[in-house]
Amino acid sequence: MTWQVDVLTLFPEMFPGFLGYSLAGRALEEQRWSLQTHALREFGSGRHKAVDDTPFGGGAGMVIRADILDAALEATKPQDNRPIIYLSPKGRLLQQADVKRFASGRGIYCICGRYEGIDERIFQKHAIEEVSVGDYVLSGGEPAALVLMDACVRLLPGVMGSDQSEVEESFSEGLLEYPHYTKPAQWAGLKVPGVLLSGHHGAIASWRKEQAKTITKERRPDLWATYQHRYGSGVS
Ligand code: SAM
Repeated sequence: MTWQVDVLTLFPEMFPGFLGYSLAGRALEEQRWSLQTHALREFGSGRHKAVDDTPFGGGAGMVIRADILDAALEATKPQDNRPIIYLSPKGRLLQQADVKRFASGRGIYCICGRYEGIDERIFQKHAIEEVSVGDYVLSGGEPAALVLMDACVRLLPGVMGSDQSEVEESFSEGLLEYPHYTKPAQWAGLKVPGVLLSGHHGAIASWRKEQAKTITKERRPDLWATYQHRYGSGVS
């Protein structure tokens, strides 16, 4: 069954954006996934099709109205059990485990915010997961939705060149990935680590594992702590 993405946005023309290229673009052409955008503006009110209004309590910016969003959701939300995701800096930080969960389902429905965000009451009427793509503020949910879609689409069957890439890459085991080298073996007086040229698969695998641990320990103590917790604190 085709993995389906629906996106509710004020800017449908931003899709598929960079996902029209490379592996994701080819997979879209091959119908390994499908994309449907819904223009929030069509559900706007009045002559100007307004979707937002000023915040109660005062303050800067505008807020997307709950009644407008609700009308759009009622008309376009998935009839299957795909998760409805609101991209938001207040959401749970997206992890590779979430990406795997989304990619193994039927697809996702993304709501892209703009301005100061959306009226909070929408979460009381609809089951919506809030997902953040990082601890920084974007000007809209569209780039965040594209990031989420990219991470999911590359995990769909037949999209990545080699299924082994997914097994070995960063986060798959709770570690960051080991460093990569390619030809030429000598460049600017710099050599490739000798073990990689040895042809000894066991030695290469353990060197890579040690590198992955060292990099994770140095750069992401949070991931390292989780890894140790999972595999026992004797892991070093
Ligand atoms: N006032 C909001 C706050 O401080 O939390 C920020 C609103 S932001 C300018 C506009 C929209 O961009 C949000 O409604 C959300 O959809 C999206 N957005 C911004 N940063 C994001 C992030 N880190 N992850 C996911 N979506 C984000």
